[in-house]
Amino acid sequence: MLMTLDEIFEEFADLDRQDQSLYLLELGDGLPEFPVCGRTDENRVHGCQSQVWLIADISGTQETAPFTIIADSDSNIVRGLIAILAASYNGKTAREILEYDIDAVFHRLNLQQHITPQRRNGLRGMVDRVLTLARMHLVTCGGGEPVVRGRSPAVESRPDLKNIPPLNPDDIRRQFPVLCKLHPSGLRPIFLDSAASAQKPQCVIEKEREVEEQYFANAHRGTYQFGLRIDEEFEGSRATIATFLNAASPNNIVFTPGTTIGINMIASGWGRRHVHAGDEILTTIMEHHANFVPWQQLAKERGATLKLIPLTPDGRIDLDQLDSVLNKRTRVLAITGMSNMLGTVNPIRELVRRARAMGTCVVVDGAQSVPHLPTDVIADDLDFLVFSGHKLYGPTGVGVLYGKPERLEEMDPIIFGGHMISEVRIDDSSWSAAPAKFEAGTMPIVQAIALGTAVEWVQKTGLASIHQHEQSLTTLAMERLQTVPGITIYGPDVAHRGGIITFRIDGMHPEDLAALLDQKDVSARHGHHCTMPLHTYLGVSATTRVSLAAYNTVDDIAALMDAIEFALKTLIRR
Ligand code: PLP
Repeated sequence: MLMTLDEIFEEFADLDRQDQSLYLLELGDGLPEFPVCGRTDENRVHGCQSQVWLIADISGTQETAPFTIIADSDSNIVRGLIAILAASYNGKTAREILEYDIDAVFHRLNLQQHITPQRRNGLRGMVDRVLTLARMHLVTCGGGEPVVRGRSPAVESRPDLKNIPPLNPDDIRRQFPVLCKLHPSGLRPIFLDSAASAQKPQCVIEKEREVEEQYFANAHRGTYQFGLRIDEEFEGSRATIATFLNAASPNNIVFTPGTTIGINMIASGWGRRHVHAGDEILTTIMEHHANFVPWQQLAKERGATLKLIPLTPDGRIDLDQLDSVLNKRTRVLAITGMSNMLGTVNPIRELVRRARAMGTCVVVDGAQSVPHLPTDVIADDLDFLVFSGHKLYGPTGVGVLYGKPERLEEMDPIIFGGHMISEVRIDDSSWSAAPAKFEAGTMPIVQAIALGTAVEWVQKTGLASIHQHEQSLTTLAMERLQTVPGITIYGPDVAHRGGIITFRIDGMHPEDLAALLDQKDVSARHGHHCTMPLHTYLGVSATTRVSLAAYNTVDDIAALMDAIEFALKTLIRR
């Protein structure tokens, strides 16, 4: 016999925490038999760690027909959760189900304490399935699409972009141990290469240490104490990142080794399925090789054409010419949120709007934009977004691939084995639902957890404040650099760029300049910055780049200018 919700509440209230967990394991014992013919892929709930099938028995076709939830799982704890869902929803009409506050039930039962974050995602998947069935029923009865109440908590928690508190860069800098250690020269490091990799605040370093020293275990493997803790931290990080990007669900966040692998996963896993001979792939000449070569290779392999959106003379996307290259054959638009060479910030929302009209899938390389500009995947309506942890004050070896649920559904995994497996038979295999489907083998667990800490650090510091601070330093640096004789600065004005400034000085090879800057303890990058097509387009083989982050100060810009002065004098003397 199934318990009623009141009976469950009563029992729970009388038990201590440990007995509540045991009770949850027994709660599913009274579930009715699930029909064998219902164990189909269609009835499977995605996002669950274990196998779960869920259907609704609706007594009648009218709008007021009551629902009975019938579900089963191979896990006892999930069967217990099913019993709670059934007790909550059974007997209710579709409309009542849609209006029912199921989170209040979970809250009252303190489920948070009893189930791992991964299980919470699975529970959310079951709730979503029930809500979908209720919506489908209303549509079938002609009751129309019900109103969705409230805004996503992620939208509610976005920073107020109008009243931005200023940063105190000295305070920020003190949180980065590597920037507080003096060089052998006695000078502090002036780090101007954050576009390559940002430095890490103490809290990120500490988090990695905490995991290693206190509860390291593989993720999604053990249900012993370390295993549960690691899962909680790992999935907690995923949830933090989902909120940061305003993704609808943590299930839309896939951990990857970084931007490059993330884009290759999309180009191979999604592109090979959806790009065909005669199709077009649209990108720009300002892309990092990571967002250029995978598409170039895909186009060659599939017999598609790679097209480029023309740029304005100052290095922006020429929106007036977009229609000349975007059309119904454009299957993919692959574009960077911010150029790692020109610093250009691209008008992603406008590009997506116009791509949408052509049915084009939009892939945004957020490696440079996500760490510096507030990103909202829902408001921007992005299909895919990728970024790397190490450019966002986090560890190397971990990155994120965000995908709309339907895009992740239609994307194939390209690496097989481990947690991504649902079932392996001799003749074929099937995959878990996203995000697990794309997380094969042992993940960079410690790094993924510490990336969550890095994101929290950015949120606490205020991404809007960081952006504002970087913009004012960029303005100052541009003004000062423009006074250097023989300098060419690439890219647009400050209104259209982020904190990346790339330049050449007549008569000075970028490599020589970088070496001389380093003599003054200023770290700047030289070379083609993985943008060879852009360098060829600009008619240069190499440039010097300085890039800013939250910890840079006005003094850093002064030090850069002094170091350039020193380089000029040194080279002129020769
Ligand atoms: N895309 C852009 C715009 C970048 O700046 C970079 C790195 O510099 C990448 C992609 C590649 O990132 P990763 O090396 O972390 O894969």
